[in-house]
Amino acid sequence: MIKAVRGTRDLLPPDTALWNFVEATVRDVFRAYNFQEIRTPIFESTELFARGVGEETDIVAKEMFTWEDRGRAESDKGQSLTLRPENTAGIVRAYIEHKMWDRGLNKFFAIGPMFRRERPQKGRYRQFFQIDAEVIGPPSSGSESPARDAEVIEMVATILDRLGITGWTLQLNSVGCPADRDRFNEALRKALEPVVHQMDPDCQRRAVTNPLRVFDCKVPEDQPIIEKLPRISQFLDEPCRKHFEEVQAILRSTGVEFQINSRLVRGLDYYTRTAFEFTHDALGAQNAILGGGRYDGLSESLGGPPAPGIGFAIGEDRLVLSLNKSPEDVSRPPDVYIAPLGAGMNREAARLARELRKSNSGRGNPGANNNLIVELGDENFRLKKSFEAADKLKSRYILIVGENEVKANAFALKHLASGKQVTVPRAELAARIQQK
Ligand code: AMP
Repeated sequence: MIKAVRGTRDLLPPDTALWNFVEATVRDVFRAYNFQEIRTPIFESTELFARGVGEETDIVAKEMFTWEDRGRAESDKGQSLTLRPENTAGIVRAYIEHKMWDRGLNKFFAIGPMFRRERPQKGRYRQFFQIDAEVIGPPSSGSESPARDAEVIEMVATILDRLGITGWTLQLNSVGCPADRDRFNEALRKALEPVVHQMDPDCQRRAVTNPLRVFDCKVPEDQPIIEKLPRISQFLDEPCRKHFEEVQAILRSTGVEFQINSRLVRGLDYYTRTAFEFTHDALGAQNAILGGGRYDGLSESLGGPPAPGIGFAIGEDRLVLSLNKSPEDVSRPPDVYIAPLGAGMNREAARLARELRKSNSGRGNPGANNNLIVELGDENFRLKKSFEAADKLKSRYILIVGENEVKANAFALKHLASGKQVTVPRAELAARIQQK
């Protein structure tokens, strides 16, 4: 038997209803904040991620699905391609490629699969889904303003609220401006020098390549050392400190609660100022629902013009895991099961189904239009079998389409929960089914 590859999984009904609910809800929120959808390719040139995510990150160093193109054209040959491990680099590439600075401030969102070769466990997959939002534009568009940071973060709180997810924690930090970080890195190196040999080999490597990333070390024995290290907050220059204070002040005024976590870092030069993470305890070891932050230098590092930006990526798999809803809460069963009775009745039933499916159900249906949901049986089924099928589907009504009904142009409609059966003229069927 051929199985799904390790770290990938099938999303099956009825659970897919939860995914649809999440996506419909976030699309609604994005609309209210005037974010527009962008779709970038699932694979890009490897160089984009090397530069856009950073060669020294675990993602680029160990986790990417990369291959060499076997294309016939000379131009394709040997090109190194990679399945996207995240979406920000691709979106910033598209921003540069299509010169989107002409549009002023761009507010993008994207939903789709990402790929990382991580050790699979609950909440961690090799193909997973992210819901991304990015605000990017030339400095003149106001893309640098703390108002944008606060708006993006507040939007996440709105998304979580609308999904009914409570019990999350927002952690906030400023990773400073590049000059602050140079001074901070120097201080870190100094502080690490006498203790680094006591640390786990992976943390030691970080201490050398990119000391900021020592804060991401998860090894318990190293935590006392990390706790004593200097913090970036001590190194913020005046504009950076003010920016961070303003982000906090706006968040307070909108009522979004947060905690300052001075260990929250992003280890790359083009990540600047605000960094944030939303966590949820119900998720266990992989407790981060989403991470985000400012990347004011990213466009330039990809060869584009200055384009300050801020964004986040929600892990959709984890978002779905932290919903306290079941698929039944966010979807509804068929309104009516049409049971054609006897030869030739499939044709009549199909006509009726087509009519009813065009009618409004008068019911909310998360993530979809609210037309009647109609299931169509088969004329070869005995009536008993049709009833069983309708019951199994939890259909509200069953509609019987037999020769007599067709002649009379009125149909037997039975409400399955109450057992009440009535004969309804064709023209009144939809209205009748809409009733509870
Ligand atoms: P990152 O791009 O690493 O900041 O991740 C953003 C979010 O994506 C995280 O907070 C997780 O919720 C989610 N995520 C990252 N990697 C995985 C993975 N391997 N499986 C599932 N979700 C992931």
